[in-house]
Amino acid sequence: MNQKGGVGKTTTTVNLAAALAEAGRSALVLDLDPQAHATLHLGETPGQTETTGTVYDMLLDPDVDPRACVRQVGENLWLGASETDLAAAEGELADKDGRHTRLRGAIEKLAGAHEYVLLDCPPSLGLLTMNGLVAAREVVIPMQAHFLALQGVGKLLETIQLVREQLNPELTVAGIVLCMHDGQTTHAQEVVADLEAFFDESRGSGKPWSNAKVYSPPVRRNIKLAECPSFGQTIFQYAPWAPGAIDYRKLAANVIQEWDAQIRPDSDDLSEAEITVLRGGGLKAPNAISPETGRSA
Ligand code: ADP
Ligand code: MG
Repeated sequence: MNQKGGVGKTTTTVNLAAALAEAGRSALVLDLDPQAHATLHLGETPGQTETTGTVYDMLLDPDVDPRACVRQVGENLWLGASETDLAAAEGELADKDGRHTRLRGAIEKLAGAHEYVLLDCPPSLGLLTMNGLVAAREVVIPMQAHFLALQGVGKLLETIQLVREQLNPELTVAGIVLCMHDGQTTHAQEVVADLEAFFDESRGSGKPWSNAKVYSPPVRRNIKLAECPSFGQTIFQYAPWAPGAIDYRKLAANVIQEWDAQIRPDSDDLSEAEITVLRGGGLKAPNAISPETGRSA
């Protein structure tokens, strides 16, 4: 989530999900943006939904089975597609009961089917984004290391705090993914240092971001990442050894490590069956990824 457009939300959602899938973890992308960029990026044509429903149906039709609104787009990779009508959903939702919790309800019905559910939010703080924030456990904020981007993140954190107080007491900020990063510039280095200092000062404050971090590694600016959506391919299909693929693979390895530490801190004490249940059932064992090479072991 980031209410600013063009910061790398869709690129991160799609390619992080694809990297998780490549590592053997079932990942579902829900495209909450009426621009349907994540849907296009994953090779689907918005509007061609004869066989399955869309995120629009999940939000507006209480009788729809959310499992009928997601489709498999690759090994371990699933999509709840957007369509331009999703723009109308904001208006239609406005006077409905439970207008903030519709997505949460739908995801609860999908529980257990996927280990990771990644929500690609639109660049606004409207009802679609609110549904995302109410449904989510963690917020990941893609941004560029620029001074003005920093100001926008301040506003976003205030919104997250409000949502936590009023609608989703468990919501936390996992951290910031630096996108299109140019680590050589002094300006970028200063902005990153500011962000890290801000998060360090927030430790123990009880704020939603008190455990947040700047994710490592930053995602370097890489033209292959900008090219692959026009082919409806993830970076792993289009250019699996481009810097962009390597960065998202390493990011996924960190996300997996963190998540496994949370759900099974004493994995030795848990039976295989318990781990399977915690993971959401019946998923393949993950392939380890070497942080050095980014390759699957
Ligand atoms: P958002 O979803 O926040 O609007 P996008 O993910 O669509 O942002 O990214 C905006 C543009 O920048 C897109 O054209 C995308 O292909 C490009 N882009 C994103 N990340 C990178 C990167 N690391 N290197 C080069 N181009 C990128
Ligand atoms: Mg986007």
